[in-house]
Amino acid sequence: MPKIILDGKEIEFKPGQTIIEAARDAGIDIPHFCWHPKLSVSGNCRMCLVEVEQMPKLVISCATLASEGMVVHTSSPKAVEARNAVMEFLLINHPLDCPICDEAGECKLQEYAYAHGRGESRFEEMKVRKEKRIQLGPYIKFDAERCILCSRCIRFTDEIAKSHQLTFIKRGDKVTITTFPGESFDNPYTLNTTDICPVGALTNQDFRFKARVWEMSKTNSICIGCARGCNIEIWVRNNQILRLTPRYNEDVNSYWMCDNGRLNTFKFVNSDSRIDGPFVRRNGLLEKVSWEEALSEASNKLKKYKGNEIAFIGSAYATNEDNFMFIKLAKLLDVKKVMFARHIKEGDQDDILIREDKTPNSLGAELIGLMPINENLLNELFEEISTGKIKVLYIIEDDIFGKYENLKELAKKLELIIVHATNKNITTEFADILFPASTYAEKHGTFVNFQGRVQRIRPAVATVELDRALDGMSMSRWDKFGTPFDRWMQGKKYDAKPSWKILTSISTKLGLKIKYEMAEDVFEDIANTIDEFKGLDYDLISNNGIKIKNKAYEYIK
Ligand code: SF4
Ligand code: SF4
Repeated sequence: MPKIILDGKEIEFKPGQTIIEAARDAGIDIPHFCWHPKLSVSGNCRMCLVEVEQMPKLVISCATLASEGMVVHTSSPKAVEARNAVMEFLLINHPLDCPICDEAGECKLQEYAYAHGRGESRFEEMKVRKEKRIQLGPYIKFDAERCILCSRCIRFTDEIAKSHQLTFIKRGDKVTITTFPGESFDNPYTLNTTDICPVGALTNQDFRFKARVWEMSKTNSICIGCARGCNIEIWVRNNQILRLTPRYNEDVNSYWMCDNGRLNTFKFVNSDSRIDGPFVRRNGLLEKVSWEEALSEASNKLKKYKGNEIAFIGSAYATNEDNFMFIKLAKLLDVKKVMFARHIKEGDQDDILIREDKTPNSLGAELIGLMPINENLLNELFEEISTGKIKVLYIIEDDIFGKYENLKELAKKLELIIVHATNKNITTEFADILFPASTYAEKHGTFVNFQGRVQRIRPAVATVELDRALDGMSMSRWDKFGTPFDRWMQGKKYDAKPSWKILTSISTKLGLKIKYEMAEDVFEDIANTIDEFKGLDYDLISNNGIKIKNKAYEYIK
């Protein structure tokens, strides 16, 4: 591979790479505002100026191709002086907003002002004033004074979202960004601009003024909004999720996520509709009981029925570990009907990220061994309930009564309905025994996305149980995952458990010899039993996931 000398160090580069790209691959960060690895080069901020030997002037490293033998200095007096001058110009009109700016703590301008700023201003005139609260689109507020005109948001909208909705207008120090007259900035991916805006000019209205970034913990996880399974970070303060942001994974979602996934897949975790502790129906009413009571009630009642009198409905929202344990219990009870429902929103799909399968794990559910419900299976189920052949329904983590409304009428024919749910829904209204399930943000586990990639979720929010036992994990293991659990000690915690754990307790009461302490133990069993998962473990899946199917999965509708 060809090489350049960067600050005295020889580094390799791929032909066609610019200096900034070669440096980045070698782990060296050249300061920049407008350059972004996934956007075209604009070269307007001048922050990445470097000195190249035998070139008469400084060059911008984002637009200068690396070439064999090139000698580059990023910290020579000339390069540093130029960078400091760029910072001085940028700060002339930038407002002193850091104490009230959402970006503070993760702002490139703040960071570079600290490293390259003069520390005082020589500018004695009035700063240019611009509008500070422009509603650019349904989810974004724009502060024109904070904008450093890097054009990242414009290029994102043109090149990634392809909606061409933003542009620069005016001249000189009056330049600002805007939408075309009468138009709103409202494509399905707008909030990615708040991530790539290097300053606090574009802010996510949903998160605005909720917390300073250093007050929150962040945990690597997976979005549950659709079968893409975008890699995300969950940001938590006082045991409450305040925002989700995309996490880079070139094979799944690159640097992006959709607005729907970002805004609508976490509020249920801290909502008042959570099921808090187990319930059993007594005299027609659901009564809160202890875990022991609910588990005994479930196991005592289940053993009174034959396998062909019971139907199990698993879930494409549940983890592989939950569904695997569900199948184990079904086998123990000799239940043959073990299925799950797909949630397809036809037409709601694009070539960027969004998938029409609105669940995170339908491929996983199928690989683990659940049958996807089709028309025949559904009619058969309805028929067998109405004729009294099926007397018991066991449903985990899906609002099946909400999806298949006929079940509401058929419910009176059933003698027992056991439900695991995170939040109240139509199905929970019909439950005789109701177990509170942990949400995806409160447990370890795995999903398989539509590409056949196994990916891990991790707890970002504590439940009563997690707080007590840290999910059975040693402190050093938690440290490894980087979750600052000490921050969890404040805030509301729900009395919920992962479905696989509830199912393990019931199975044990029914005589199954099983010893799962952590989700990882269940996964180990999956990897030993199911061909597609052979050879995998949690460490191997790690943060980027592992592809277990070579062909993208096509759903049979
Ligand atoms: S709003 Fe942000 S991303 Fe857009 S041009 Fe201004 S500084 Fe750059
Ligand atoms: S594309 Fe799907 S997985 Fe990605 S953020 Fe949107 S809803 Fe979530």
